[in-house]
Amino acid sequence: MPQPTGFKLIDGQDLRISWNDGHITRFALQYFRDECPCAGCQGESDIFGEVKMPMQLPVMKPGKYEIKQLTPVGNYAVAAVWADGHDSGIYSWEYLLEMEKRADAASSSPADAPTT
Ligand SMILES: [Zn+2]
Repeated sequence: MPQPTGFKLIDGQDLRISWNDGHITRFALQYFRDECPCAGCQGESDIFGEVKMPMQLPVMKPGKYEIKQLTPVGNYAVAAVWADGHDSGIYSWEYLLEMEKRADAASSSPADAPTT
């Protein structure tokens, strides 16, 4: 599996990840946060396999899409700390690659490809 070689914030809005196989991933922070893999954000599935979403007020906390810190977890993941205090999301390399695939599927237009 490819490993990230660098994480870079671009304009405080996008996260750019370089991988050791030479490709580059770019996520909008909003997408990155919305895909937070922690149980609180993704809901926990019960024994019947149904996913219960946590109760959430439709209020946008300031800093929700502002990243404060990315901390390496072992050599397999990074933990994201957000400006609203949320810090339980741990993104494994595998999960990041999965997110990339989903983002690619969502934006079908190749004209969106980053120019940098
Ligand atoms: Zn979360």
